[in-house]
Amino acid sequence: MAAHILLVEDEEKLARFTELELIHDGYTVDKAGDGRDALDMALANDYDLILLDIMLPGLNGLEVLRRLSKEKSTPVILLTARDAVMDKVSGLDAGAVDYITKPFAIEELLARIRVALKLHGNSNHSGAGDSEEAAGDTSKTEEGVYKWKGLVLDTKKHLVTYDGHEITLTNREFLMLETLLNNMDIVLSRDTLLERVCGYEYIGETNVIDVYVRYLRTKIDEEFGVKMIQTVRGVGYVIRSCE
Ligand code: CA
Repeated sequence: MAAHILLVEDEEKLARFTELELIHDGYTVDKAGDGRDALDMALANDYDLILLDIMLPGLNGLEVLRRLSKEKSTPVILLTARDAVMDKVSGLDAGAVDYITKPFAIEELLARIRVALKLHGNSNHSGAGDSEEAAGDTSKTEEGVYKWKGLVLDTKKHLVTYDGHEITLTNREFLMLETLLNNMDIVLSRDTLLERVCGYEYIGETNVIDVYVRYLRTKIDEEFGVKMIQTVRGVGYVIRSCE
């Protein structure tokens, strides 16, 4: 059964584009462009997930979230403006499960939706995205398992191996590798990686990401004679699928 998503976004073009991508990925979508409508709809229906813009007419997204979370535990991913750190922190305090910064890559949004549904969703509703992924994506052969050449990352067992040899990673190294594998062939910026790896409230230098890449290269590339994480100068990092 397809997961039912409420998309709350007042920028019509972005809303329409996102809606089409969600439908294409197999989700059922309702849309709202106003905070009050969104709250009414969220209270009246049992959505599997809500994508909630913060800057909205009527009632802002954080207020919608606060009022909703008093009544229901529907998982919410916030859509926030770039660098609105206070919004992110308030949003997470108010009960959002994740946030994504606009403008976002649609693949990243879809990946976060899958994670949110897996972690917080009703287990009777597996997102249609999952089955499509299982059929079409060779990098992820079974649920939560990513493969690249001899490397296997198993999110459930929290285990990384290369040709069967276990690789010991710290939590942040693991998160970083998982994020890159989950976005195979998509170049991720240091900012994006930083948010995933170090959390929303991390305030510090983005070159911490370069440090983690160096650790991963020492533990994997040098150890097994491969070139896994590629640097895209001026942009970020990517793991490319093998031909
Ligand atoms: Ca807006």
